[in-house]
Parts: sequence; structure tokens; C-alpha cells
Amino acid sequence: MSCMSFYYSLFKLKQELFLKNFGILFQLGKINSPTSVVWDSTRRCNLDCIHCGSQGNYEKELSLEEIINILGQLSLFGVKNFQITGGEPLLRADFIEVLAYANEKGLITSFATNGYYIDENKAKSISKANVSLIQISIDGTKDIHNSIRKNPKSFSKAVNAIKLLKSHSDSKISVATTVMPQNINSLAQLRGILISLDIDLWNIGTVMSVGKAKNNPSLFLSKEQFNRLINFIIDSKKEINIEIGENFPYLGKFDKKIRRTPKMCPIGILSCCIGVDGHVRGCPDQPDTDLYREGRIQTETFEEIWKKGFKRYRNRRIIEEDKKCFICNHRTDCWGGCWVMRENNSQCILDYI
Ligand code: SF4
Ligand code: SF4
Repeated sequence: MSCMSFYYSLFKLKQELFLKNFGILFQLGKINSPTSVVWDSTRRCNLDCIHCGSQGNYEKELSLEEIINILGQLSLFGVKNFQITGGEPLLRADFIEVLAYANEKGLITSFATNGYYIDENKAKSISKANVSLIQISIDGTKDIHNSIRKNPKSFSKAVNAIKLLKSHSDSKISVATTVMPQNINSLAQLRGILISLDIDLWNIGTVMSVGKAKNNPSLFLSKEQFNRLINFIIDSKKEINIEIGENFPYLGKFDKKIRRTPKMCPIGILSCCIGVDGHVRGCPDQPDTDLYREGRIQTETFEEIWKKGFKRYRNRRIIEEDKKCFICNHRTDCWGGCWVMRENNSQCILDYI
């Protein structure tokens, strides 16, 4: 057994023990705090990406006062990581203030951005907020990225943001790329660009069937393209720190080749998301609809929502309820795949590889 495979198996054992213990705590009603909470900070955005999953308008976003109150609750409850996503979070005038306050409360912060608004001053103020990881989206080489993002300056702004953040802050920089038929052929060239930018992590995902992408089949990879992507990731590992995004928490026969440790969908067990207007759901990529909402931060405390909600993720009954999962040999490695991908029945890795 190779060192990597040994480490993977050890972690798998740890994960199983953790899940068993979590099951017992769940039965007893003694649920620990999540490790990570994501804040879906706004639906406003300066770009109009063809694959955007973050759709829908809100009359009201959480106020600074509300989010400060939530950060206090998260810190007291023992949450470790606070991640900010959107929309474009930098469109919130109080964004830096929120980061700084989260840091003051001892939370490890990270955020995802398109990089457009990061100039020298913003990079300097972000550096003072002690952010652990900043994720910038780049979906291809210059022309491809600009056409996907429908903005001729979006690529140069994103690259410039990486350079500024690297020179002014100690934050780790990751680049998120959503792979689709429109950009799969530019990945090798993009890899060269990202290596020259000396980023810390390249996070690759595929399009999920939510938001604008829902009714656009041209954005989804064919089986051949998906396998090409997997092989590209395996080949690239020698040159760059690369991961496949979380919408494939299990990669079947490729899992050990790509991941150092096994993953699972963490919602309701390790993480959840606070929505733009305070409704709490499992994951920022899930539609913010009644079907996925577990409570609202204005009417209950975060701890109350976390402890009483999320049952469907915790009882893991999906692998018994789904006929295909029920007879699947991979069921206790995969646990039924990604809940967002279930939106259009595209969650099963066996359909791709
Ligand atoms: S059948 Fe279910 S458990 Fe098996 S790989 Fe597919 S989604 Fe995962
Ligand atoms: S629902 Fe999917 S994208 Fe969301 S946390 Fe789970 S695996 Fe990840």
C-alpha cells in the first residue's frame, strides 16, 4: 500500500468513526456546532456569467447589525470557519468591516470573489482583516473567461486582483474554475497562467443545474469530456495544487487518485449556509426556497436552528430511499452524492465514469 493510499484509508476509518459518533449524538439530541458556516452575503453582482447559479432577488439583505450579532453567536457556539460568498461580496459596503469583526471574534475567514473590485487600497484593507483564504474565479484564458463572464475587463481584473493580494496580504489564494464545454479545451493553457501566478490552490468544479444554468444543456460536460477533465486533473497534480470541486464529494475509482483524504457532503454535519435575508439552508448552491430552508436567523438563534434542523442530511436515509443508491456498492463511500446535483438527478458519479 502506498503512503497516499494508507493515509486515505486511515482518514476513511476516522470519517466512519466520526459519522457513527455523530449518529449517536444526533439520536441523543446533542449536536455539536458546525465547523464551517457560509454566508451567502448578497445576490447583487457586477457580472452576468452564463452559468451563474446564484439567482433570485431579495428585498432586504442582512444588515451589518444582524451579521455582527450572528458572528457573535457563531463564535460562542464554537464555529471555526466563516466563509463569505455571493453574488459579489465586495458590493456590500460593509464587507471589510464584517471580515474584520469575524477575525476579532476568532473565526477563520475566507471569501469568494470575481476580483473586479480589488484595487491596491482594497487589497491593503483586506490584508488587515487577516483573511485565511481568498478564492478568485477564472473560467479560462482571457477571451474565454471574458465571454463567459460577459465583460471584456473581467480577466485582467481577476489576474490583477491575484497579483495585488499576493503582494499586500498573507492570505492563501485559490482560483475557482467552472469547467464546461465552452472552456475545457483551454484548461492546459490556463494551468500555465495559474502556475506563473503562483497561486496556492486550483479548485475545479463543473456546472450545477441551478439558477441560470438550469435550462441550458450546452453548459454540461459529456461523459467523454468529464473523463478528460478527470485525467487532466490527475496529470496536473505534479505541477499545481489542484482539487475537484465539492459537487463531486465522491469520485468512484478516481477518488484515491485525486484526493489525499475522502470527502462527503458536509451539510448538516459539518457545515451550513446563512442566506441573504437570514434563512438558513444546507449549502449556498442549493436554491434558497422553502424546500431547503431549516429556519430563519431573525426568529431563532443559530444554535436552535442547527440543533433542530438538517435531519434529512443527518439520518443519511437518502441511500435507502433512492433505489439506485440502495443497491449500490459505493453507498457508504458516496452517501448519495451532492444534494444540489440531485436537483436534476445528476448526482451519481457512476453515470460519468
Ligand atoms: S448510486 Fe448513489 S451511492 Fe452509488 S455512486 Fe450513485 S449516488 Fe453514490
Ligand atoms: S450539496 Fe453538493 S455542493 Fe453543497 S456541500 Fe453538499 S456536496 Fe457540496
